[in-house]
Amino acid sequence: MSKIIASAAIRGAQKIFNKAEKQYEEALEKYGPEQDVGFPNTAYYLPIIYAITGIGVSKIKDMKRVLDTCKKLIPPPVREHMPLPYLAPALDAGMATFFAEEIIEAIRYLEEPDCYAANSEEITEKNKWLGAANDVIFRKRGVEFVDGTAPGFAAIVGAAPDPETASRIAIELQEKNLYVFMCGENQGKRFSEQLIQANVQIGWPTRLVPFGPDIYQAVFAIGFACRVAMAFGGIKPGDFRKNLIYNKDRTYAFVLALGDVTDEWYANAAGAINWGFPTIADTPIPQVLPTGICTYEHVVSNIPHSQIVQKAVEVRGLKVQVSKIPIPVSYGPAFEGERVRGDDIYIEMGGGRTIAVEWTTSKSMDEVEDGKVEIVGPDITDVPSGTRLHFAMIAEVAGRNFQEDFEPILERQNHHLINQAQGVMHIGQRDIAWIRISKQAVEKGFRLEHIGKIIHAKYHQDFGTIFDKVQIKIYTKEEKVREILEKARSVYERRDQRIEGMTDESINTFYSCILCQSFAPNHVCIISPERTGLCGAYNWLDCRAAYEINPEGPNQPVEKGTSIDEKYGQFKGVNEYVTKASRQKVTEVSLYSLMVSPMTTCGCCECIAAILPMANGIMTVDRDYTGMTPCGMKFTTLAGSVGGGAQTPGFLGHSKFNITQKKFLKGDGGLLRIIWMPKRLKEEIYQRLKKRGEELGVPEFPDMIADETVANTEEEVIEYITKKGHPCLTMEPLM
Ligand code: SF4
Ligand code: ZN
Repeated sequence: MSKIIASAAIRGAQKIFNKAEKQYEEALEKYGPEQDVGFPNTAYYLPIIYAITGIGVSKIKDMKRVLDTCKKLIPPPVREHMPLPYLAPALDAGMATFFAEEIIEAIRYLEEPDCYAANSEEITEKNKWLGAANDVIFRKRGVEFVDGTAPGFAAIVGAAPDPETASRIAIELQEKNLYVFMCGENQGKRFSEQLIQANVQIGWPTRLVPFGPDIYQAVFAIGFACRVAMAFGGIKPGDFRKNLIYNKDRTYAFVLALGDVTDEWYANAAGAINWGFPTIADTPIPQVLPTGICTYEHVVSNIPHSQIVQKAVEVRGLKVQVSKIPIPVSYGPAFEGERVRGDDIYIEMGGGRTIAVEWTTSKSMDEVEDGKVEIVGPDITDVPSGTRLHFAMIAEVAGRNFQEDFEPILERQNHHLINQAQGVMHIGQRDIAWIRISKQAVEKGFRLEHIGKIIHAKYHQDFGTIFDKVQIKIYTKEEKVREILEKARSVYERRDQRIEGMTDESINTFYSCILCQSFAPNHVCIISPERTGLCGAYNWLDCRAAYEINPEGPNQPVEKGTSIDEKYGQFKGVNEYVTKASRQKVTEVSLYSLMVSPMTTCGCCECIAAILPMANGIMTVDRDYTGMTPCGMKFTTLAGSVGGGAQTPGFLGHSKFNITQKKFLKGDGGLLRIIWMPKRLKEEIYQRLKKRGEELGVPEFPDMIADETVANTEEEVIEYITKKGHPCLTMEPLM
C-alpha cells in the first residue's frame, strides 16, 4: 500500500476517533451510562461493531469497550522510516474508523432525533437525509442483494463537478441495477443534492439513497452490507472473517470518491477494503494496485467521470447482467429454424454472392467499451429492399480471465444467437456466414445495430463468466470488409494449425458437439484431433475448452473405447455415445468414411463430399461455389438433401481444413480418392494439399484434381483424371 495513503488513513482514523471519544464523554456526562442508544428500529445494534466484534451496543456505557478496541486498532502515525508493508495497519485504522463513526452516528440520533427522515423510504419536505435503513426497509431491500436483483452498491462520497454529471453517473449505476449510497461533501457540494437539482428522484425506490451530509454516514452503507451477511447469509455476529469474506464474494460494492480526498475519506476507503470494496477516485491520488484483499486493485485514481462507472464495475469484478435483448423483434429458440425466402427478403449478406465474415477476437480491457455497437458503411435503411450487402462483424471481447482459446467458442455461437431473432436467418460461420433479414423485421425497426445488440446481450447471458466486456463493429463497405476478411482468415488458419500434429491415436477422449441439434435434431458431430467439426469452426481443442467452460454444455467428452474398425474409424465408446445423443436414430458411425456409416451432416458444413461412382472417386464442393458440380447437384441442393442430420452413405459434410488432415476419408482410400473440387477451394488449401500429396508419394497431386475449368460432368472428370494418371484409377472399387 502506498505510504501516502496509509499515513493519511491513519491520520483520518485518529481524527474520527478523537471526535467519537469526545462525543462519548460528553454524552456519558449528559445522559449517564444507562442511556439507550442505537439506530432506530433495527435489530442489529450498531451493525458494523456488532458484526465484527460481537458487541451489541445498546447503552452509552457499551461504547467504552468499543472505543478501547479502536485505540488498539489505530496504529501510531506513519513515520518517515516506517517499515513496509503499510496495508495491514491501514486496514485496522479503517476498521476503527467505522466503529468510531457508528458511535458518532448513534450519539447524533440521541442528540437530534429528527436528523434523518427515519422510517421513510423517500426524502421528505423537511429532511433530505435518510440515515440508517430501519428493519422494514432493510428486509425489503436487503433480500435483493441475495436474490441477485441488486448485485451490490456504489458508495458515493463527495460530489460530481455539476448536477448533469451526477445524474449521468447515477443513471449508469442504476442501469447496472446497483444501489447508490451517498454521503459526504466536496467543497460545499453533495452528490445527492446535485441529483435533486437535476430533477432526479431519489430515495430507496429509485435505489439512489442519500444517507447523510457528512463522511461519517459511510457507515450506513457498510453497516447495510454487514446486516445482509448476518440476516440473509447466516453469519454470526462477531464472526468477522466470515462477514468480510461473504461480502467480498457476494456484494459487488465499491466506493466512488468524487472530489478532494481528505484524511477522513482515506480512513473510510481503507475501512472498505476490509470487505473487498475498492475505491475509484476522480482525482490523481496515489493508486493501490496490487491485489490482496480486494478481487483486483484496491485504489484506482484519476478516472474521468465518463469512464468511472465502467472502471468501477471492472475493478470490482462485477459481471454485467443483460436481462432483455434490446431489439424490436421477438427473440427466442422458437425463431431459430425459421427461413427467410424470396419476396420476404429485405437484405441479404453473404451466401456466396457477397462477403460475410464474422470474427470474435480478444482485446485488452481498456480497448473495449462494453455494449458499444458501431456500424461503418451503409445500414439496412440506407439501401433499397432486395439489396445485397457485404458484411464483416468483429466482436471484440475483453476480460481479466479471458483466454484466446475461448475466441472460437464465442464466435461459433453467433450462428444460433443471431438466428433466434424473428425474421432474421443466419447460416454458416467464419467467412462463409450468410444472413437474410426479412421485410417484416425491417418494418419493425430491425437494423444492423441489433445484430450487435444480440451478440452483446447473449454473450453476457450465456458466457458472462469467462469475459467482462464486449463491443461490436460491423462494416458493410466492400474495401473494409475485404481487409477484415484477410485478417480473419489468417486467424482462422492459425486456429486450425493448433491441432496439427495431434493424432487420434494419441488420446483416449474425443468430444461431441450437438450445438446444431436445434436445426438438425439427431445430428451429432464427433470431434477428434484428426477430424475437426464439419462447420470448420470447432476442433478438438475448442471442444475441450468449451467443455471446461460449461461442463453441462453441448460439447461432452466421449471416451472412444475399444476400436471396432480401425480402417473406418469406428469405436465402441463413440457408437454408444452417438446412439444416446441421436436418440437411437444413429447407432454406428465411422469417423473416417463417407461410404460406411458416415457421420451425420448438418446445414453448417463448409464442404460436402459426394461419391462419383463411375469414376471410382470422390468430389467435394465448398459452400462458396454456386455452380453445378459433377455429381449433378449444386452445393445448396446437396446441403438440402443431406444436411438434415441423417446418415447418407455416399455423402459427407466436412470442413475445409479436414481435407488435408491425415484421417480424411481414410476408410475410402484417403485424400487420394479426391478427384474434383472447385478451383478456388483448391487454391485456398493448395499449400497443404501439396504437402499431403508429397507425404503420400504423389507430389503432383493438386494438379491431378479436376476443377470446374476442366470438368463439369462425371465423364469430363474421368477424362481429365485418366489423362493425369490420378491414383484413384488403380484403387479398389468404392462400391
Ligand atoms: Fe458443432 Fe458440428 Fe454444429 Fe460445428 S457443425 S457447431 S462442430 S455440431
Ligand atoms: Zn450445423
